[in-house]
Amino acid sequence: MLKKEYSIRNSFLELVLGDITEMNTDAIVNAANSSLLGGGGVDGAIHKKGGPKILQECKKIRKFYYPNGLPTGEAVITSGGKLKAKYVIHTVGPVWSGGNHGESRLLKKAYYSSLNLALEKELTSVSFPSISTGAYNYPVQEASYLALKTIKNFFYKNSEITKIVIVLFSKKTFNIYLSTAQMLFLQ
Ligand code: ADP
Repeated sequence: MLKKEYSIRNSFLELVLGDITEMNTDAIVNAANSSLLGGGGVDGAIHKKGGPKILQECKKIRKFYYPNGLPTGEAVITSGGKLKAKYVIHTVGPVWSGGNHGESRLLKKAYYSSLNLALEKELTSVSFPSISTGAYNYPVQEASYLALKTIKNFFYKNSEITKIVIVLFSKKTFNIYLSTAQMLFLQ
């Protein structure tokens, strides 16, 4: 497994080439859609491996809290079902529509909402996929900068979460995140 670790203040950020459904952090983050009822990409993989319990919990959340769907940038939490991770945090990243429709603010918000939920649950380790860069078409270069900058800022404000992993599914995406991280963390 390709892996690169950065130490930021008292915490660690890891970039990993792999499958997020295999991660044993306290929580993994799902790049969900607002229906919360499953989809393709990482969403489909999480529900497939985690089993029906996750979907049942998502349906309850929809019914009681978000009858019109989870707004972009917000996050909710369920158990991890059969996954190694105890929890799944479901967040909705923005669909890329050229860059002038609040995409960067909403992508940042998706990372922050997820991390704030992890804090509320007193979790200490969280894995993220590259939110929005699949079906939602966000350019990976820009997304990597926002994701890494947001996590860096988070580590400067909070020390309770000690490990954040970004799990990249392709060598190409991994390399883009790697070069952005070298620029942001090793200056
Ligand atoms: P979005 O709709 O937010 O773009 P996608 O699931 O389509 O979400 O894609 C987000 C990123 O997750 C993409 O880079 C995609 O290649 C990646 N991905 C897909 N499956 C997995 C997986 N099992 N583990 C980690 N990343 C994955």
